Amino acid sequence: MTKYVYSFGDGFAEGKVDMKNLLGGKGANLAEMCSLGLPVPPGFTITTEVCTGYYANGKALPKGLDTEVKKALAAVEKAVGCTFGDAKNPLLVSVRSGARASMPGMMDTVLNLGLNDITVEGLAAKTGNPRFAYDSYRRFIQMYSDVVLGVDHYHFEEELEAIKLNKAYELDTQLNADDLKLLVEKYKNKVTDELRNRFPNGTVEQSTFPQDVHIQLWGAINAVFDSWMNARAITYRRLHDIPEGWGTAVNVQSMVFGNMGDDCATGVAFTRNPSTGDKAFYGEFLVNAQGEDVVAGIRTPQPLTIAGKATSGADLLSMEEVMPGVYGDLVKIYQKLEHHYRDMQDIEFTVQNRKLWMLQTRSGKRTAAASIKIAVDMVAEKLISKEVAIGRVDPAALDQLLHPTLDPNAKKTVLARGLPASPGAACGIVVFSADVAEERAHHKEKVILVRIETSPEDIHGMHAAQGILTARGGMTSHAAVVARGMGKPCVSGAGEVKIDYAAKTFKAGNQTVKEGDFVTINGSSGEVFLGEVPTIQPQLSGDFAMLMGWADELRTLKIRTNAETPLDATTARKFGAEGIGLCRTEHMFFDVDRITPMREMIVSDTPEKRKLALAKLLPMQRKDFADIFRIMTGLPVTIRLLDPPLHEFLPHGEAEIKEVAKAAGVTVEYVKARAHALHESNPMLGHRGCRLGVTYPEIYEMQARAIFEAASEVIKATKEKVIPEIMIPLVMNEKELEMMKRVVDETAAAVARETSVKVDYLVGTMIELPRAALRAGDIARHAEFFSFGTNDLTQTTLGLSRDDAASFIEIYKQKGVLESDPFVTIDTQGVGELIEIAAERGRKSRPDIKLGICGEHGGDPASIHFCQKAGLNYVSCSPYRVPVARLAAAQAAIKAKTAKAEAA
Ligand code: PEP
Ligand code: MG
Repeated sequence: MTKYVYSFGDGFAEGKVDMKNLLGGKGANLAEMCSLGLPVPPGFTITTEVCTGYYANGKALPKGLDTEVKKALAAVEKAVGCTFGDAKNPLLVSVRSGARASMPGMMDTVLNLGLNDITVEGLAAKTGNPRFAYDSYRRFIQMYSDVVLGVDHYHFEEELEAIKLNKAYELDTQLNADDLKLLVEKYKNKVTDELRNRFPNGTVEQSTFPQDVHIQLWGAINAVFDSWMNARAITYRRLHDIPEGWGTAVNVQSMVFGNMGDDCATGVAFTRNPSTGDKAFYGEFLVNAQGEDVVAGIRTPQPLTIAGKATSGADLLSMEEVMPGVYGDLVKIYQKLEHHYRDMQDIEFTVQNRKLWMLQTRSGKRTAAASIKIAVDMVAEKLISKEVAIGRVDPAALDQLLHPTLDPNAKKTVLARGLPASPGAACGIVVFSADVAEERAHHKEKVILVRIETSPEDIHGMHAAQGILTARGGMTSHAAVVARGMGKPCVSGAGEVKIDYAAKTFKAGNQTVKEGDFVTINGSSGEVFLGEVPTIQPQLSGDFAMLMGWADELRTLKIRTNAETPLDATTARKFGAEGIGLCRTEHMFFDVDRITPMREMIVSDTPEKRKLALAKLLPMQRKDFADIFRIMTGLPVTIRLLDPPLHEFLPHGEAEIKEVAKAAGVTVEYVKARAHALHESNPMLGHRGCRLGVTYPEIYEMQARAIFEAASEVIKATKEKVIPEIMIPLVMNEKELEMMKRVVDETAAAVARETSVKVDYLVGTMIELPRAALRAGDIARHAEFFSFGTNDLTQTTLGLSRDDAASFIEIYKQKGVLESDPFVTIDTQGVGELIEIAAERGRKSRPDIKLGICGEHGGDPASIHFCQKAGLNYVSCSPYRVPVARLAAAQAAIKAKTAKAEAA
């Protein structure tokens, strides 16, 4: 029989940490903490299988679940000595979601469940604290009504504000028990009004806040399952590649109260600093508050440690000072947890009457810089191996480290200061709503999203923005946590920033900033500046270099770069590129001083005229190649001969046409007629790639000459090795390649005779067409290497235009037709199979053929895993992706090694 419910409590648990798939992360870790003997309020977890079944069966819960829940609830009642729904001694519970992967704030939670008009009196009497009892009840009504009954929370906030205004209170804490009692009545009436509006013919029960605690419990359980499919959870899953099929678990746990008085508190902490990775306990807490108050950012939280006071941005006492005894218990527990999990933990706790309770532990989200520091430190502390350390760093997140920071010498006007919530610098125009952020980012504008505070509804705007600035909230506020997860710079809690949403402005000191004005934020220092501040390149030394060194020891794939400018080649080499995998020569012709001779060449209608124009281009190409060879001495440089449709170079407009006519010594009419003749209706499948070389061999001959002359020149000058690899694009059969290889070989021989320098070179081809992949055996007879051009190979295999598909691929992803964008991550089943076929057939006819990939996929971690499995020799990607690829390749190698060991 399937077990649906797993109990946990003092020193025992039915679940354990490796049952995350079934119990969700929160449930599995609560069980694990209980087994470790840590103080955890007793409770139970309803499995993720119940959630998947719920959706498979038209939102019906399985038979037998109620019996298991009843039994588990009875065990909780026994453990804490209270009874659910009891008038004198009521048990209160929390009901929370908990998926396999953490999805902070995306799903629903209900606290203080089990309160009604009777139990609230029991709670008041039992605790001798009516204020606390009614405060808990009004919080419960608000949360439950919002989450389960769909009555928006702003209705309740309005009532709360009205009472405060009436009584001239500034703070919620000024409300006394009678005020709160009155508020409870108002809240309940509000619920009734709203429900009557919605169901005019409903029964009395249907239009009142439920008093039956069991109805409350099942209402909350269903609501948590429902929240798996709410819009923000769906967006979050899409952004983080979390499959819908995983489902969420539901955790029902006895309540402990951080809001019963000044010897109570609630807090969140990281066992190491999540921004920097420093080995320092780090976190925030609030005295006399409930968990949600800390993350909501309504009150400014206090630091946990005395050391933490320096960065807390306010003159507040720390937990270490306020509650030294409990703080000492917390320190022992966090150390035990970190040692047990061998990873930095993100923990939540509550203190009830000076007794510490642990509510959650999970592996903490961290910035890329922190993930590297923690991984490297933990290897030194002998907690983890180098392989584990490599696996701990998300290659995609390295981007955060590779991008510029603010130039310390730049002139800056500080507008305001807040907390350094997520590192890095960002600059953009100010926008005040997530929708506007998305809209303007869509039009290629860089935006900074400025909000009083963010909530899960803002997630799409945060994603679209360069950075986030909030006026309220601490280092663990929603904005801070989400920004760190996204790797975006964030300054939170900048109290001087006074936002007027209606006027679309904010004031800071005597400055007024309007929507559309530029600001710069520094998420590493918490500063906000007026205007655009210049930036500088990052330093890639220390821990970063150490981790990258380990990655290089462990990986078997070589990493090259796609580069055609000296700047890109230099950057890539600095980032560790082991050569160039793709130099797109056409990019060298778009410069102002080159485009005219290029056009002159294109409009020529005889080989003689074409050669005259090519002669003008030759010295320019030679210099381009020489520059790159100098930067890449000793490393292979793959140069691809001209690939794009000539159509792309045609002159537009009268002025350009006149200029070309003048340079070529022909009439304007002639240029127009040639442009018309060269026009293509389907240029991507037209006169491009090696078809240019077959029809106009003099083009490839000029390029080959430029390459060999440049190589000879650099070899002579530097006495170093230059390794050109000449690549013929878009080959569909062996004849094309054979013919083009002859052009290259003959040119090489001619240049060698002229210069007396012997250049070692290879000739190979791109595999970009399904036919080429299938005929790889024939093609390999003339190719010393294959480089998979997966951009075109994806386009030609799927019949999807690489230039036009973006508009509907998102919809395909949302509807589940495609799991990911095939232009970003290799379609392993289709394109991948063609690559495997080509690799196998190519190797069969030429065992030492070199195999690589140079499409955009070469920098995508998931695709790199595929390349490892397919047995390629190298991947080539854009310069900034080189470190990402080095790390992903190491992870792929470790995975392959583990798989091999397991199979043996
Ligand atoms: C490719 O098609 O994958 C490729 C690298 O070539 P390009 O993107 O220049 O067409
Ligand atoms: Mg291509």
